[in-house]
Amino acid sequence: MTCGMTIGLLPGPNRKRTPRLYGFRVIYRNPDATEEGCLMTWEVLGGREKYQIALERLWTGGVKWHCTCADAIYKGSKNPYHVCKHVRAIQESLPALAA
Ligand SMILES: [Zn+2]
Repeated sequence: MTCGMTIGLLPGPNRKRTPRLYGFRVIYRNPDATEEGCLMTWEVLGGREKYQIALERLWTGGVKWHCTCADAIYKGSKNPYHVCKHVRAIQESLPALAA
């Protein structure tokens, strides 16, 4: 059971991408992880803006990640498999969910 805050060191938003401490705060968790729809949402703190990440359970049984950052929206619209650094950091901290 994971709840509360996950901390990760990520490349920062400036041009040199100086590592920065990001925080991922769980704001919602569906008690039924097999139910179709939103499984979990996080708030990303430490970036240029506040972002939100959502993990969605698809009717196919797989999962889909969403992030509100510009990188995820821009690159994600061209490549549905694109994963932004925020989502990747959560996947690394919660390997069971990324599968
Ligand atoms: Zn992102």
